[in-house]
Amino acid sequence: MGFAIDKIRADFPILLRQVHNKPLIYFDNAATSQKPQQVIDALVHYYTYQNANIHRGVHALSQEATDAYERARDLVKTFFNARLREEIIFTAGTTHSINLVAHGFRSWLQPKDEIIVGQAEHHSNIVPWQMACALTGAVLKVLPIDENGQLQLETLKSLLGPQTKLVVVNHVSNALGTINPIETIIEMAHGHGVQVLVDGAQASSHISVDVQALDVDYYITSAHKMCGPTGVGMLYGKKELLEALPPYQGGGEMIKEVYFEGTTYAGLPHKFEAGTPNIAGGIGFGAAIEYLNTIGLEEIAAYEHELLMHATQGLKQIEGLKIYGDITHKTAVVSFNIGQLHPYDVGTLLDRMGIAVRTGQHCTQPVMDFYGIPGTVRASFAFYNTKEEIDIMIKGVQRAVNMLQ
Ligand SMILES: *Cc1c(COP(=O)(O)O)cnc(C)c1O
Repeated sequence: MGFAIDKIRADFPILLRQVHNKPLIYFDNAATSQKPQQVIDALVHYYTYQNANIHRGVHALSQEATDAYERARDLVKTFFNARLREEIIFTAGTTHSINLVAHGFRSWLQPKDEIIVGQAEHHSNIVPWQMACALTGAVLKVLPIDENGQLQLETLKSLLGPQTKLVVVNHVSNALGTINPIETIIEMAHGHGVQVLVDGAQASSHISVDVQALDVDYYITSAHKMCGPTGVGMLYGKKELLEALPPYQGGGEMIKEVYFEGTTYAGLPHKFEAGTPNIAGGIGFGAAIEYLNTIGLEEIAAYEHELLMHATQGLKQIEGLKIYGDITHKTAVVSFNIGQLHPYDVGTLLDRMGIAVRTGQHCTQPVMDFYGIPGTVRASFAFYNTKEEIDIMIKGVQRAVNMLQ
């Protein structure tokens, strides 16, 4: 295989670290990814040589910083194949992006309007809509999952109606790794004149996304899940929809003219970018995308699928181990429990072996309630992980089971 795993791993300095005197095995990529040296260098370079506020100064530094930041926007635009650069809004991340859109929807939702939300959403794609509903009298309708964690499209058919104003759903579930059939969901919703917002936080560094081909209305992600820095992310929206959407926060940068009698807003994307943004973060986001491009999303997806299959087969050898959402059309996330063992206990023992997994609800309490469990152990892989690391984890899980049972 041509996947240059050794060369790739050398780009991630953190992978050389030890934890509890064991080599770090980082399997918590769904919570946040690690950062390659190229991204770290981009942050340091900006603060060392280019630090200035953007879009404001006539001076050289400000121009350079602005150019670097806007170049990052172009990289994001191309990565997601958006039609226009002004359709890319830089935000603080997925949570911020969803709140931005949900806040705009408050202005036009009417009592009894309906928003359809997937059952396996991250809390950040549930709570902002609940808040919008509470203020407007609109109603949240849940699109249920089946035992495998897959959305029940038959039910979507019956949920979509004249009252439906929006469908919000993730591209990939962070709890289970399920890849949702968003192409079909978007087509069904558009058939009823309904817009669709897709939470792509868990998809964008694992499968390639083309917002124009999807014809998605809003697509959202966080840089830190894609080898970029924390505190920065994006909202993609179709131009005409973003133009209609009221601004979220008011302040500098987002205005055209300010009078005490009234203010006019700046055009896209600035209308949604009030205040000094995370300049270094935006530049780092661009560097992360350049890095991912050098490896290639298709190659990443293929390699990570191998990791997924390897982990799934290995873990299933452990007696009493159950994988939730055990299907093949998923990203490299394995969410599991062993008998009645508490996920926290398993996770704690794995940590002592240097293995970082997430345990608990993964910000998706409705999924845990659906399965009637307190949480899961979640191992989520990235393209810099290896089968050897997975083998160590599988042995570690077996050891944990032996100790706890
Ligand atoms: C991580 C994640 C979020 C939240 O992202 P933040 O960067 O914390 O705002 C939302 N949805 C999904 C599917 C996620 O994986």
